[in-house]
Amino acid sequence: MMNRETYVECPSCSPDKKVLHEVLHTGKKLVVRCTACHATQHVEPPHRPTALKLRVVVSYHDQSHVGWFELGAREWLHTGDEVIVENSSIDAVRITAIELSDGVRMAEAEAESIRVLWAQKIDKVVVKIAVHTGKTTRSHKVPFDGEKKFVVGTEEQLGKISRIKVKRGPVLDQAGQYAQAKDVGRVYVEGTTRRSADRNQISQAGRKPAFRR
Ligand SMILES: [Zn+2]
Repeated sequence: MMNRETYVECPSCSPDKKVLHEVLHTGKKLVVRCTACHATQHVEPPHRPTALKLRVVVSYHDQSHVGWFELGAREWLHTGDEVIVENSSIDAVRITAIELSDGVRMAEAEAESIRVLWAQKIDKVVVKIAVHTGKTTRSHKVPFDGEKKFVVGTEEQLGKISRIKVKRGPVLDQAGQYAQAKDVGRVYVEGTTRRSADRNQISQAGRKPAFRR
């Protein structure tokens, strides 16, 4: 995997603060060029965690709380993206601002350069979906409009709905029985084997890492 950009100190123009560098060559050492002064240098390849937990300040009416959003270090986020944020509650939110480690706000950024996200809770309900594929079952959380109908026996993006647990209610398992997203405890889906049940594929629009309308 080629790293095209990285943040490192620049001995010429920014010795004690990391600035954006282009990666010219990869190998045991990276050859990088400062985007501010164009000086080149050799650096150790940065350690890159595969997933990051980003801090999200979620506002809702007059209140706000902090939650967490996990995503791959190399994935990009954009303002306007809708994502699931978790803490004591699970909220569907829309990203309103992206703040980088140097305090600058950007309309889009790579996960590893993000310091904090600002988001607005949106009027969607988070539905837990268990996808059974072969011998594995994966759990997903996907936001939907509260009125969205789930019908036993029908195909959704993740596969065919086999049963629906209604919140404080029965398990529906007869074809044609349905529940609305706001009433659903969990939806059980038989995943297709053609397609992996990767969590990035659950988004409504099928985009990574978040989904948009
Ligand atoms: Zn420089």
